[in-house]
Amino acid sequence: MTERTFSILKPDATKRNLTGKINAVIEESGLRIVAQRRIKMTQEQAEDFYDVHRERPFYGALVEFMTSAPVVVQVLEGPKAVAKYRDVMGATNPEQADAGTIRKLFALSVGENSVHGSDSVDNAKIEIAQFFDAEDIVG
Ligand code: ATP
Ligand code: MG
Repeated sequence: MTERTFSILKPDATKRNLTGKINAVIEESGLRIVAQRRIKMTQEQAEDFYDVHRERPFYGALVEFMTSAPVVVQVLEGPKAVAKYRDVMGATNPEQADAGTIRKLFALSVGENSVHGSDSVDNAKIEIAQFFDAEDIVG
């Protein structure tokens, strides 16, 4: 079942010039990058995007981190793309991530963990719509 998921290459990744290396892992996994744009997230975009975590103790630091440098927002497409990309990313904490995953290969810490991926098909649709117009996604 072909799906789309939303991905962010986070500030720790763009700062270290890792966008190409991370895209290579994404593409080697079989996922196709069907839209991609480099942006500086605004405070409001980051706060809205992580609204589910508003009450968590790390929320302020998370918003600060996500606005600290450019990010690359992406739409990925492929069979079961949501679950597939979660597998390719690895666990939130890189110390717990499996070998070969993006977070094991590149992440610095649980906060600076290089990538975001949607956690459900419904959230993927919501997140994609926050950052992309439909005509800018070319599948
Ligand atoms: P993401 O939503 O970014 O794809 P995730 O779904 O693996 O990551 P969530 O539980 O949704 O993890 O947390 C969102 C983000 O908040 C994490 O990616 C991480 O950057 C940050 N975060 C989560 N837990 C912590 C923590 N204990 N300390 C610091 N930052 C955290
Ligand atoms: Mg999440």
